[in-house]
Amino acid sequence: TATRNGLSDANLQRMAERERAHFVANNPRSQALAAQAAPHWLFGVPLHWMNDWSTPFALHVAHAHGALVTDVDGHTRVDFCLGDTGAMFGHAPAPVVHAVQTQMAKGCTTMLATADAAWVGAELARRFGLPMWQSAMTASDANRFLLRWVRAATGRKKLLVFNGCYHGTVDDVFVDLVGGKPQQRDSLLGQVQDLTQYTVVVEFNDLAALEAALAAGDIACVLAEPVMTNIGMVLPEPGYWEAAQALIRQHGAMLILDETHTLSSGPGGYAATHGLKPDALVFGKPIGGGVPCAVYGFSAELAQRAMQAKRDAPPGHSGIGTTLTANMLAMAAMRATLGEVATDTAFAHMLQLAGAMAEGLRASIARHSLPWCVTQVGARCEFQFAAQPPRNGTQAEHMLDSELEQLIHLALLNRGVMITPFHNMLLASPATTMADVHSLLSAFNDVLAKLTAP
Ligand code: PMP
Repeated sequence: TATRNGLSDANLQRMAERERAHFVANNPRSQALAAQAAPHWLFGVPLHWMNDWSTPFALHVAHAHGALVTDVDGHTRVDFCLGDTGAMFGHAPAPVVHAVQTQMAKGCTTMLATADAAWVGAELARRFGLPMWQSAMTASDANRFLLRWVRAATGRKKLLVFNGCYHGTVDDVFVDLVGGKPQQRDSLLGQVQDLTQYTVVVEFNDLAALEAALAAGDIACVLAEPVMTNIGMVLPEPGYWEAAQALIRQHGAMLILDETHTLSSGPGGYAATHGLKPDALVFGKPIGGGVPCAVYGFSAELAQRAMQAKRDAPPGHSGIGTTLTANMLAMAAMRATLGEVATDTAFAHMLQLAGAMAEGLRASIARHSLPWCVTQVGARCEFQFAAQPPRNGTQAEHMLDSELEQLIHLALLNRGVMITPFHNMLLASPATTMADVHSLLSAFNDVLAKLTAP
């Protein structure tokens, strides 16, 4: 019989039918709400990605607290997706709820700073090691704005990214290496510019390719996650970033590290934890404890050059910033998150639980003799459908199997556990308990038993 990733195809089909039927029978209120919403939202949901979950119709939430999400049919599940990192510090953390309620009663948006600005600026510099910062509403915006600053500061136009990367809705990065040649991604709807003109793409962990691309001397910056997390996880090989940083500097380019996901590494993110020295950093998603906001940091040199570029430019729109950016609510949320939630103690707990999670997943995979592996970056881990972890985006992409992923995700949902709908990522929050990890491992083990049943 046909097999995929060590499993029988026919068995997968039968199991998928059972899991879908189980979900439909047990979630009537979600189904009714999905039907009510259908006429007035594209694809029936306020954000079409909400259909990327494995469920036959959109799951609707009643409330989310700590590491638990309760749906409208009354099921409470342990949440290891955590809003795909937006809630990495737990849902509705008490200090953030308090700060947001207090601030909301005192106004939300004036296009002016409050006393929180000075505190948050100093904390960002202390924690992440770069002296100067700006705010944005989302990590996508922060990346987009940084690209503008860096291009303006360096006078260079080209961007270098790694094959298989994702940096939010920054169109410039949607260029893939296809047969060694850059090619704009066909799925990028409505984009009419030729992005290959200014975007250079090479494989991660390939220093020779990086050096060759930088040698032309026209790259403004390398925009990268220190660990690729959006095509499955791809770790840097030992010494990779040290050597890559030296090459980038030598060729007069800047290094922007997008730490939206790798903040999971520790209180200062991956760069601070591993001693990297980027020219710019991006943090988004969980930085406001769930309230939309993001920040991006500049080295002293890049800050001076960026400010000079702005002073030298004609007066008028910079194309950088949005009206609601750095609003009073977001700043209050960031202060509460950084000051009271994303603490060293919280991270120690998250890292310990993620370690237990990774170890337990590995044990379960071994028990069922599956050729899969588990990768971990601090509070984040991921199981991948290959015996060895990938070295680059091409290898990582070959390991993806969306049908199998969706079946595992749905089977876990039916057993009280949520994981990220995109590939197989799991996060531990400060509110996650060892009992939650045991619930996950027991559900995962049961799913693997069903998947491998004769
Ligand atoms: N950068 C990275 C590395 C991401 O993974 C994401 C989202 N998954 C973003 C940026 C964009 O974040 P947002 O959707 O909040 O703008």
